[in-house]
Amino acid sequence: MLSADCDATVLMRAVTFQAPMQVRVEERREPELLAGDDAIVRIEATGICGSDLHIYRGRVKIAPGFTIGHELVGTVVAAGDAVTRVAEGDRVLGCFHTACGTCFFCLRGHYHKCDQMRTFGHGAALGDLPGTQAELALVPHANLTLRRVPDSLSNDVALFAGDVMGTGYHAVVNSGVTPGDSVAVLGLGPVGLCAVQVARASGAGPVVAIDSVPERLEIARAFGATPVHLSEQQPREQVKRLTGGRGVDVAIDAVGHPDALDLAIRLVRKAGTVGAIGVYAEPQQVHMGLVWIKALTLKSGHANVIAHVDRVLGMLEAGTLDPSPLISAHMPLDDAAEAYRRYDRHEALKIVLTP
Ligand SMILES: [Zn+2]
Ligand SMILES: [Zn+2]
Repeated sequence: MLSADCDATVLMRAVTFQAPMQVRVEERREPELLAGDDAIVRIEATGICGSDLHIYRGRVKIAPGFTIGHELVGTVVAAGDAVTRVAEGDRVLGCFHTACGTCFFCLRGHYHKCDQMRTFGHGAALGDLPGTQAELALVPHANLTLRRVPDSLSNDVALFAGDVMGTGYHAVVNSGVTPGDSVAVLGLGPVGLCAVQVARASGAGPVVAIDSVPERLEIARAFGATPVHLSEQQPREQVKRLTGGRGVDVAIDAVGHPDALDLAIRLVRKAGTVGAIGVYAEPQQVHMGLVWIKALTLKSGHANVIAHVDRVLGMLEAGTLDPSPLISAHMPLDDAAEAYRRYDRHEALKIVLTP
């Protein structure tokens, strides 16, 4: 006989998309384990990210009422029998998407192209996986998606490993940056600033950091880059001056706008590499003649964070990377609507929400 409390729905608070420019904290059913390699994490920190803004502004379409967010640090409160790498009670961080670990692409290490990839908080089109801006999150394939947080790392710093810093790391590594290379980073949002840090930590120099927001240029300077104002200075002249007239070995477009990609193609030297880590979803004009004549390599796509997360954690633990200057504010989950408004107005680099 079923007792009454089997039917009683246990509710939690979650940040839900309602309509463009409108999110709301609502009650949702608490998640339950569905597969043997699932875990459930009680969220202690979750961030608002640039890709959440694409949803917020209605550019990425998801159903009204869907729980959003894809960054997480918290404690494992339940785990299926097949979860072996983390256990109940562990403080963990999550990667922003899941991967199966056994498909063609996973077996070749391309976890970001997994045939069964699911992204937290991105609606039905990306795997129908509720987001992490909630009290609890269901984490599929927990052995791959989650990592224990080293004791010395704060929740704030660990939050970057599975998304923003992992993406900055990918932009640098995927572009083949080696010690002694000159690098230009275009766009100093959180990913661009993380790419600046990783490039410096990789032994690149000079690292030219280009943006039009003075505060962001100052953070890049503090990270060891040479800041260049996009409109008040001349990036092409500055880069020529710093590279013996050749151009940089690697240029990273951390904006995702054809103007930035065009400038990256012009700033890079012959036979150099352009890394497009900014998001593209539509046809764009690229000066293919310039790419061909200069014999450039163009790398693109979103980051393979599952492949990078352990190295990124190692560098965060060693203090080689430290994203804490990017944290603008901590706010309670219940103030998510205000947090999104502030983030949308570019008044913050990273807002950490705590349930
Ligand atoms: Zn993100
Ligand atoms: Zn796979």
